Amino acid sequence: MVPGARLVILGKQGAGKGTQCVRLARHYVVPHISTGDMFRAAQKSGTEFGQRAKEYMDAGELIPDEVVVGVVKERLEQDDTAHRGFILDGFPRTRYQAEELSRMLAPHDIDLAIDIDVPTEIVLDRLASRRVCSTCGTNYSVQSPPRYDWTCDVCGGEVVQREDDTEEASKRRLALYEAGTEPRIEWYLERDKLVARDGTGSPDRVTTRLIGAIDRRRERGGMRRH
Ligand SMILES: [Zn+2]
Repeated sequence: MVPGARLVILGKQGAGKGTQCVRLARHYVVPHISTGDMFRAAQKSGTEFGQRAKEYMDAGELIPDEVVVGVVKERLEQDDTAHRGFILDGFPRTRYQAEELSRMLAPHDIDLAIDIDVPTEIVLDRLASRRVCSTCGTNYSVQSPPRYDWTCDVCGGEVVQREDDTEEASKRRLALYEAGTEPRIEWYLERDKLVARDGTGSPDRVTTRLIGAIDRRRERGGMRRH
């Protein structure tokens, strides 16, 4: 296995992106960059775009595309990603963002965008049973709770259901996601950069499918070796 990859992971909320990104990051030895973590880090570091993002978040406003792109660009210019690559989780969300990502990587581009495909009914079930530590963010579920009475195994924090994991909020988020899906997927299809893989079944089986898709792409020579 040659380390290094530039991957975009797509999929609905609850499709298992977070879990799979952590596994792929370990496998290909590249940083996993989730938009949530990136925004938290950018706000703390006080970079130009991080500062602007913070102003929108403090005001409870949606962060404009241009600022989101700026935060991502600042992150991708750091040494680790510039040399090894990245696994992007939660970005790009729109065709505009996908275009901007290609522009910032030029003359290269991403190696592959993988759509983790899970039917909406299954995703809604998963989201409804999801629980999260309110302190450190570790994920649990009704099926696999922490050992003691909804107290986090990692940090002792309180494990709760996120407000936006209720059924109504989940449906709203899924609708929002769907709205951005087609144009963004088209962008990658036109460039032959997209594969979709079945995201149902155990996390191990899904990981095997994703690695298979990425490695097949590498064998075809479509991937830049690092
Ligand atoms: Zn915790």
